[in-house]
Amino acid sequence: MVLAELGNKITGALRSMANNTFVDEAVLDNCLKDIATALLQADINIKLVKQLRDNVKRAVQIEDMASGLNKRKVIEKAVFSELCSMLDPDTEPYELKKGRSNVVMFVGLQGNGKTTTCTKYAYANKRKGYRPAMICADTFRAGAFDQLKQNCTKAGIPFYGSYTETDPAAIAAAGVQRFREERYDLIIVDTSGRHKQEDALFEEMREIEEAVKPDCIVFVIDGSVGQAAYDQALAFKQTVPVGAVIVTKLDGHAKGGGALSAVAATDSPIIYIGTGEHIDEFEQFHTKSFVSRLLG
Ligand code: GDP
Repeated sequence: MVLAELGNKITGALRSMANNTFVDEAVLDNCLKDIATALLQADINIKLVKQLRDNVKRAVQIEDMASGLNKRKVIEKAVFSELCSMLDPDTEPYELKKGRSNVVMFVGLQGNGKTTTCTKYAYANKRKGYRPAMICADTFRAGAFDQLKQNCTKAGIPFYGSYTETDPAAIAAAGVQRFREERYDLIIVDTSGRHKQEDALFEEMREIEEAVKPDCIVFVIDGSVGQAAYDQALAFKQTVPVGAVIVTKLDGHAKGGGALSAVAATDSPIIYIGTGEHIDEFEQFHTKSFVSRLLG
């Protein structure tokens, strides 16, 4: 996994800095340069990399540091904490509530793994004791409803959709109403993707949001998107109030950094990551343990 390489490069830079008998500003600068190069190679947004570099320097204040302090430890801590804040906008995700119908709407570009992720999310919460149901509000892609039906059938999750209705907002509203009446406590609305960020997609998202008034909007992004991730995430956030992010396909050769750091554009936390095509290949995301694991 390419993310592991990023971790190795960062720990390598920190280690070689510690090999110097005296760590001064120049040594720190060198180390930060290597870390920045590694982050850029992993597709982390250039502005965020610069911010990380500046913030570590500011936090460390190497010239003023008391001589007894272990400089390497202080620098490592600062790098760790900056990596965490880069991946964590410090906003709380929506907590599902028992005893009511939580409506969660999924958005994202086509092929990013939205439908797969809806099913994984439903299944993960079913195992936590919720009663999930899924709605296919994608009338754009032929076969979208069949795919969702197939996923739901395999996972034992009730579904709703239509082969004849052409208005996705109407399908979404009818599905939510039906599942509310049937007392499902987690109603998941899968929306259309499109290949590009186009006006029609964004208008449709707005209409569905208006029709179902979701408790949370989850933005799904493919881990291999790269530097384009930031602008993609921003465009979604500017259209609907995204409240959480799921990064998919972090199992492959994805560099991951672009998508992971796109949370900064959405100002919402990553709640899960997708690590495979199978329904179980889905992990809850905790920033600190993710960064700890990354740095080995
Ligand atoms: P959608 O168009 O956004 O709804 O995307 P789909 O859910 O249809 O997924 C597109 C492809 O990505 C499918 O082949 C999925 O099996 C695959 N996929 C989704 N999530 C993951 C993941 O976390 N890892 C891998 N390897 N493949 C994934």
